[in-house]
Amino acid sequence: MVQTDRRALRKRVAERLAALIYPRRCPVCEKIVTPRGALICRDCKKELRYIKQPSCMRCGRQLSYAEHEYCSECAGKRFSYDRGYAVWQYDARMRHSLGAFKYHSKREYADFYVTEAVRLYGDRIRAQAPEVLIPVPIHRAKRKQRGFNQAECLAERLGAQLGIPVDAGCLVRHKKTMPLKELGAKERARELHGAFRIREKVPPGYRSVMLVDDIYTTGNTLEECAAVLKKAGVQKITFLCIAIGAAGNKNQKGDKAWT
Ligand SMILES: [Zn+2]
Ligand SMILES: [Zn+2]
Repeated sequence: MVQTDRRALRKRVAERLAALIYPRRCPVCEKIVTPRGALICRDCKKELRYIKQPSCMRCGRQLSYAEHEYCSECAGKRFSYDRGYAVWQYDARMRHSLGAFKYHSKREYADFYVTEAVRLYGDRIRAQAPEVLIPVPIHRAKRKQRGFNQAECLAERLGAQLGIPVDAGCLVRHKKTMPLKELGAKERARELHGAFRIREKVPPGYRSVMLVDDIYTTGNTLEECAAVLKKAGVQKITFLCIAIGAAGNKNQKGDKAWT
């Protein structure tokens, strides 16, 4: 189910109209942004901790040592995905911002997140040319409660900016998981195992896809999604997430805790 350009366009027009009526708020301080048309206050932007190079060749986390290829979480491990990218470190500011985006329906914040993602990684993503962007799904009960899937909101904007179709239907989260933030790494992996499946009986036939999500902490969620896609025949799997937690900090709040 590839979203049509027309549907995406209609959505964008509706959002533009809403932006004219309701002034845009800053994704960090939540005050009205000036000048009109800006996506964030200039001072607030300076406070965000962008992922700097060198970064982990696997998950995209910022590395402490330039001579390392992988972070301590990824070194020596096998993954179903090939490579990931992250825009910011998941610190208190990003936790607050992404919390408002996700739990208080501040969908406009996605414009800023995605614009920055494209500025940092747009060329690399275009060069890799994924056939499709796949948002990490949330359980339908959670979607009903929240009103939207934050990963889908990000993927739609990313797809619109990069000209890549979005398939929000091929991957399904059919298992309701316990709040993951209360679990250790092993328990999270166990809880997430089997949480996702391909919707159609026939695999979608993609060769290269990019998964999109808001937060990466332990990486269990993305790994589960990637494993399902790989089993369905996808050869190359990359991901983009907005914020990534520090290596070795497995109990950060926010990792899919309520998804
Ligand atoms: Zn601000
Ligand atoms: Zn890593």
